[in-house]
Amino acid sequence: MRECHWFVLLVAFALSVKGLNASAGDIDPQYRTCVKQCEKIGCIDQQCFPQCNFSLDGVSIDLPWYMQEPLYLKWKQWDCQSDCRYHCMVKREGEREALGYHPVKYHGKWPFKRIYGIQEPLSVAFSALNLSMHFHGWLSFFILLYYKLPLRQDKKAYYEFSSLWHIYALFSMNSWFWSTVFHSRDVDLTEKLDYSSAVAVLGFSLILAILRSFNVRHEATRVMVAAPLLAFALTHILYINFYELDYGWNMIVCVTMGVSQLLLWAIWAGVTHHPSRWKLWTVVVGGGLALLLEIYDFPPYEGFVDAHALWHATTIPLTYVWWSFIRDDAEFQTSNLLKKSK
Ligand SMILES: [Zn+2]
Repeated sequence: MRECHWFVLLVAFALSVKGLNASAGDIDPQYRTCVKQCEKIGCIDQQCFPQCNFSLDGVSIDLPWYMQEPLYLKWKQWDCQSDCRYHCMVKREGEREALGYHPVKYHGKWPFKRIYGIQEPLSVAFSALNLSMHFHGWLSFFILLYYKLPLRQDKKAYYEFSSLWHIYALFSMNSWFWSTVFHSRDVDLTEKLDYSSAVAVLGFSLILAILRSFNVRHEATRVMVAAPLLAFALTHILYINFYELDYGWNMIVCVTMGVSQLLLWAIWAGVTHHPSRWKLWTVVVGGGLALLLEIYDFPPYEGFVDAHALWHATTIPLTYVWWSFIRDDAEFQTSNLLKKSK
């Protein structure tokens, strides 16, 4: 999820004026020579990559269509470059380590070790756990609303924010799904899907934060608050997908949306007499502390455990507390409404 990635972007932006594509690792002449050589002959030392042979012999391009590779196999050409980059990076990092140097970034990313072709196994695992945490939270919220709490005569829940939380759950699960995919395989498409889903969930949760903290129940007012924010989020998604994926600008947009909702919840927790406000505090403070992990962007320990993966790990318990707050809020509001109606 990219709620998470805004801080990576902030750090990347702050540390590197050159942007994400030129890092210390890939400027290294030995690494560059290795990649160039590998793409030409398809081998590094004794290790050869079958992916390289086909795409580099040039034959496939001139053959009639029925002799050509199927479209899905054309990814091989991309695989040749990615395999060469990966194995040259591993080789170069090994040499550097032997000389006592610290790891450096390659093409904007730390040198991760793959497991079964998965680029960042820990981030994948934690993203999947976040996804299941949201599913669990949503399911328990659903059961509470429709099976445990009293319903109105038209079989609808008393809690006025229920449909908003249902949509929120869908956006959250969607963004963690694409985060799982993106950390498994980082290509242009998966990156854009991950970024877009993160903007969507951030935008929607900001709307929700405003509506809930100001207790906006009137349909027309809700639309008035939501419309400009929805329009902005949608325009931004179109912009990063079809115009330019500007990391710096995207970071500013995501940080602004993320921080403003955290502040809103924090202020609201401070002034409200909500019985579960301590859960809000936990999420706001916990989320803030977890951000430190992203500020201290250390390289992956043993090629696996990096700050970003740990950041994804911390949101797992926070998500549990968060859904627990949402359930409490539904119960609290329902009992308030029932008291009033009596
Ligand atoms: Zn991530």
